[in-house]
Amino acid sequence: MTLRALLGGALVAALASTAVPAFADGELNLYTARHYDSDLALYEAFTEATGIEINVIEDKAGALIERIKAEGQNSPGDIFMTADAGNLMTAAADGMFQPTMSVELEARIPENLRHPDGLWFAFTKRARIIMVRDGVDVGDLDSYEDLADPRYAGMICIRSSGNIYNQSLVGSLIEAHGEEATAEWVRGLVANMARDPESNDTGQIRAVAAGECDIAVANTYYLARLARSDDPDDQAVVDVIVPIMPNQDDRGTHVNISGAGVLTNAPNAENAVAFLEFLASDEAQLAFADGNNEWPAVEGIAHATVLDDLYGSFAQDDVSTAVFGGNRADALRIMEANGWK
Ligand code: FE
Repeated sequence: MTLRALLGGALVAALASTAVPAFADGELNLYTARHYDSDLALYEAFTEATGIEINVIEDKAGALIERIKAEGQNSPGDIFMTADAGNLMTAAADGMFQPTMSVELEARIPENLRHPDGLWFAFTKRARIIMVRDGVDVGDLDSYEDLADPRYAGMICIRSSGNIYNQSLVGSLIEAHGEEATAEWVRGLVANMARDPESNDTGQIRAVAAGECDIAVANTYYLARLARSDDPDDQAVVDVIVPIMPNQDDRGTHVNISGAGVLTNAPNAENAVAFLEFLASDEAQLAFADGNNEWPAVEGIAHATVLDDLYGSFAQDDVSTAVFGGNRADALRIMEANGWK
């Protein structure tokens, strides 16, 4: 498939007229924990528009953080891109990012979706929500807080405390309620688990569909991925899952991000900023979010229709992603101290 077919002629045409500066001889070394084919098409579009070649170094977030640290001042890395504000804040705490001063990025990316000092910027959003099996009586289950209610004893499947998505969710609870109340919440949740944590988010959703548990916590794009699958087994799962968008009556549903920042020792920092500004453009936002069934970070951009089919529009917790991501270590300590395996 050609790039034009992948992205649509509109994107390529728009890129040709975009304000991204050209560094014809330059390169860009992108360390990324994302791994979607659609991202590769976007990188090609960036190269086509700017002449900047992108070298992609792909690995898990933790491995990339260790690699960048080990490379130190000699690191060829220009950008670190990863899912989850917790990962971005871990990298920021290690001094891995330099501030990016970009009027364009500040104007386009909402304030709660970027680091206050410009160390990183979100480019997509996902929500971490509750999913139940159709027909199960869960009463008025409509908040993260409810998950600790003893009426849900033995009903909940959720992955381990080592999972960054859960650490960020707990980080948001710390921000909303403080550490003591969050510790109590963790104890209640652990008491309600149907099994010791195992598997990934898709595994929790499948376990609910199969009746191993009644309630799962998972990120929105996992169910959307199953919904877009041609596999009849996946369709059968989606058919029996009812998503619940938590906390619509108060602070809104917990929203996390994927994002990127310019590395401290970036040899091609100007190219890196140009790439981040490119990712924030209307056309790139659409394709980048769609590649993983997420919502664009920039407001007013279209997104995959499957997201509307599954989740509609919903109130989003607008707490700073840097704040809950920065609570990662405290969250993990509280989770482990209160029995979350
Ligand atoms: Fe994921």
